Amino acid sequence: MMVDNAQRRQAIEPREISQESNTQLRITWADDRVCDYNAAALRRVCPCAQCVNEWTGQRTLKPERISDELEINDLTIVGRYALNFRWSDGHETGIYSFQYLRDLCEQRK
Ligand SMILES: [Zn+2]
Repeated sequence: MMVDNAQRRQAIEPREISQESNTQLRITWADDRVCDYNAAALRRVCPCAQCVNEWTGQRTLKPERISDELEINDLTIVGRYALNFRWSDGHETGIYSFQYLRDLCEQRK
């Protein structure tokens, strides 16, 4: 069990985070998995308290409110566990844990 957890933790450490364009982000993980993310798609699953009801877990952000042309204005690493984006719509409160980002990528495949 301990070993499994350690392996899992290592797998969700990014080895490289690169902004391919204003709308595309690529993360190469420590286990060599490469995940591509689209800005608008990421914005639509923003996990912050403005976009998700903290108590019910229900998403309050309407996906159609986010333009497909949404861009990543800025990107910062939070601690050693998450990314914070500043989007072209001015939103910047979402903290995307590496675990969350990895899960999003695995769900899509
Ligand atoms: Zn949000």
